[in-house]
Amino acid sequence: MKVIKNAGLIDGTDREPAAKATVTVLGRCSPFPGTGGNCPGYLLESGGVRVLVDCGPGTLARLAGLLRPGARPSPGLGPGPTTESPFAGLDAVVISHLHADHFSEAMSLRYAIAADIRDGFRHNLLPVHTPPGPATERDIIAYPKAFDLGTVDEGVPLAIGPFRFEFRRTDHPYACLAMRISAGPSTIAYTADTAWDDGLVAWAAGGAAPGASTPDLLLVEASLQDASAHLRNLGHLTAREAGRFARLCGARRSVLVHLYPEFDFAVSLREAAEGYGEAGRAAPGQSSAAAMPASDSPPLIPAEGETFQL
Ligand SMILES: [Zn+2]
Ligand SMILES: [Zn+2]
Repeated sequence: MKVIKNAGLIDGTDREPAAKATVTVLGRCSPFPGTGGNCPGYLLESGGVRVLVDCGPGTLARLAGLLRPGARPSPGLGPGPTTESPFAGLDAVVISHLHADHFSEAMSLRYAIAADIRDGFRHNLLPVHTPPGPATERDIIAYPKAFDLGTVDEGVPLAIGPFRFEFRRTDHPYACLAMRISAGPSTIAYTADTAWDDGLVAWAAGGAAPGASTPDLLLVEASLQDASAHLRNLGHLTAREAGRFARLCGARRSVLVHLYPEFDFAVSLREAAEGYGEAGRAAPGQSSAAAMPASDSPPLIPAEGETFQL
């Protein structure tokens, strides 16, 4: 297992018992920021360690407000900033895949991190982990003054402080990684971008992995609606499929993300609830209670900036 060890970051071998995690949804929409909200970005926090998962358009401004609410860095009199950026306390970034809606604000984050390092507010490069390709996009992210660029992939677990990441490739045009993330007693599953995949549902639920627990929170993409279901070949789920995913995965709570920002979200919510209900119907000769794992309720749509305590 690859273990990240940074200033102020504990590697998991000598840490105190891990606290529960929180997940803040910085953006619930895609593939562009629009009326409904920002592009994908999720702030994970546990035991004082902060990891940003995905870094799409619109997420940094919301993240800045969370990390240093009300802060206004002053320009000083010299040639550059003399006040730390809101992102100085960020410990790592993990990118699900190299489509622009998931990584493009890393291109701006690097300037903030480079300034923090130059001005002495930060003493280490920011670890940024991405899938292995495409190489062109990896080259765009690389910025040695700010980032320590790492590679993650299916079958290569990653540890960042109390967080343990596992990855699985999804059905999507670029190499895209769904994630199961644990921190102490908390477990999070994130589908990233994907078409329907029975194997992914089982993996997200914990599958046959020894000791794996059912997720406390599932972030399930719901890019499409019934009326646009013909676009599933682009590698995305409909809200109906997302509801089915949530039911079969059995997470305690599920939220729809990666919503097309100009859709009527009430339609997505209704179709997801229908998919959730359809998945709960018993097969002939089988009781639904026996057939399906327990989960509390159909998926919800999070507010932008909503924090989930796990
Ligand atoms: Zn994508
Ligand atoms: Zn996307």
